[in-house]
Amino acid sequence: MLPEAAATAAIRADRTAGPTSLYVHVPFCIRRCAYCDFATAPYDADSARAYVPRLLTELGRVPRDAPMRTVYFGGGTPTALEERELELLLAAVRDRIAPQPGFEWTCEANPESVTPAKAALLRAHGVDRVSLGAQSFQPSVLAALGRDHAPDHVFRALDVLRAAGFSRLTLDLMFAAPGESVADLERDLATLDALRLDHVSAYCLTYETGTPLTRMRAEGRVTPQDDDAELVQYRLVRQRLAAAGLAHYEISNYARRGEESRHNLVYWRGEEYFGLGLGAGSYEHGTRRTTTRLLSQYLGDWDGSPWPPHEAETLDPAAKARERVILGLRLRAGIDPHEFTRERGGALADLYRDDELESLRRRGLLESREGRLRLTDRGLELADEVFVELV
Ligand code: SF4
Repeated sequence: MLPEAAATAAIRADRTAGPTSLYVHVPFCIRRCAYCDFATAPYDADSARAYVPRLLTELGRVPRDAPMRTVYFGGGTPTALEERELELLLAAVRDRIAPQPGFEWTCEANPESVTPAKAALLRAHGVDRVSLGAQSFQPSVLAALGRDHAPDHVFRALDVLRAAGFSRLTLDLMFAAPGESVADLERDLATLDALRLDHVSAYCLTYETGTPLTRMRAEGRVTPQDDDAELVQYRLVRQRLAAAGLAHYEISNYARRGEESRHNLVYWRGEEYFGLGLGAGSYEHGTRRTTTRLLSQYLGDWDGSPWPPHEAETLDPAAKARERVILGLRLRAGIDPHEFTRERGGALADLYRDDELESLRRRGLLESREGRLRLTDRGLELADEVFVELV
């Protein structure tokens, strides 16, 4: 069995008992990055103080002593909260859940927001993994991305986190930023190698609708990298991280054996999870919901419900099965067709017209390996196109 498949199997939720994973969104950021289209809000102390009690109301949906395999605090910047709010939230979650063997609790942080006091708070309440938004170690790349920190902040944050007892640390890296050269990326990858981390997420910059960076591109003020340059950088990332001992286990994620993100594997396996907070997605008891992205609505009146304003969607079985295929193909382990049939009550091949999967195989984009269906290396590079065909 491929290592990432073993890790995936180890965290498989008991589907009859409801979600065993919890996502908590903290939207506040000191400054908005130029490329960001996440559900964020500018940090102000009053909004943050009003926000945490709303999260605690939502936490009421999670049964008391719910068996929990993973918790993930994402954002925004959870560590932008003041210590008092952060402690309130950490304690409420810790007291609500019953951690299961292999439990993982991740918190995202931005380098400039990591202080010894906040790191100690996280550790004391059971957080055992921190995801640091580094993005680059090159000042020119950080400036092009509109990031609010300098490379030194990342090194300082890592020192503070390690001193607080964190051994599971992961960094986000972004590549193909405007003006970023291959030499810039080489330097970033050499720095990552020297940091000896067990997990890295590496994303190709995307120009999302409505972001400042996309507007700057439309106005001709930034020039995006072309497809060939993006591909060169993607290949370099894969090659260097593999050489550093980090196995490529998902389109954008690399880890030493056993250090995969157990929480994100829940999403890629199509399993259920509670999702709390502004703009948060949840998948509870067969229904997906997406909470409002408007902070004023989230902080407003909820009509006495434990649900903030949201949109709900129940996928029909075929749509759910196709979504499962696409999520599963994001993993280098791919999909076990027999397991898929057992879980979904129908064969993988029945979802698609006779020649659809075969055509992707003939074009060298899909392959079978160790009895599993997965993207080839070329399929990884063209994953968006493959997914459009499969959806
Ligand atoms: S720190 Fe993250 S969430 Fe906040 S603005 Fe930047 S990219 Fe968005």
